[in-house]
Amino acid sequence: MKYSKQREALLTLLRSTRSHPSADWLYENLRKEFPNISLGTVYRNLAQLAENGDILKISTSANKEHFDGFVHRHFHFVCNKCDKIYDVDLDGMDEIKNQAAEKLNADIEDYSLIFYGICENCSSKKIINSKEEIYYEKVCMSGMRLCSRG
Ligand SMILES: [Zn+2]
Ligand SMILES: [Zn+2]
Repeated sequence: MKYSKQREALLTLLRSTRSHPSADWLYENLRKEFPNISLGTVYRNLAQLAENGDILKISTSANKEHFDGFVHRHFHFVCNKCDKIYDVDLDGMDEIKNQAAEKLNADIEDYSLIFYGICENCSSKKIINSKEEIYYEKVCMSGMRLCSRG
């Protein structure tokens, strides 16, 4: 019983964030609720949840594993500078999957895609944007209500 309670808490924690945390981060946060939990237990539960398809496992360029509580079809971008993982929704990927299936003459059960590069915050792209866009970003950051209205 205790084991499944911990797994439940782990899943809840993962679904409360879009930051694609590491096992270490999850362990640190779960310890507040379960002081006796071990990192091994966290890893075991993560492996089980990933196997069940309840979570996604993302391996970054540094070969670190990160986890995602959102399992709808989406893709990831990893910033090589700040190591942040961003979600990106893309259309047309099923076509590429079908192409691959045809070329391989195989049944493709799953696929993932990770882009690597320098994110907007780490590059100078933000400054190149038009003044209007910069203004819009500032307005958005000052509050979600303003953002959704406009
Ligand atoms: Zn970055
Ligand atoms: Zn994601």
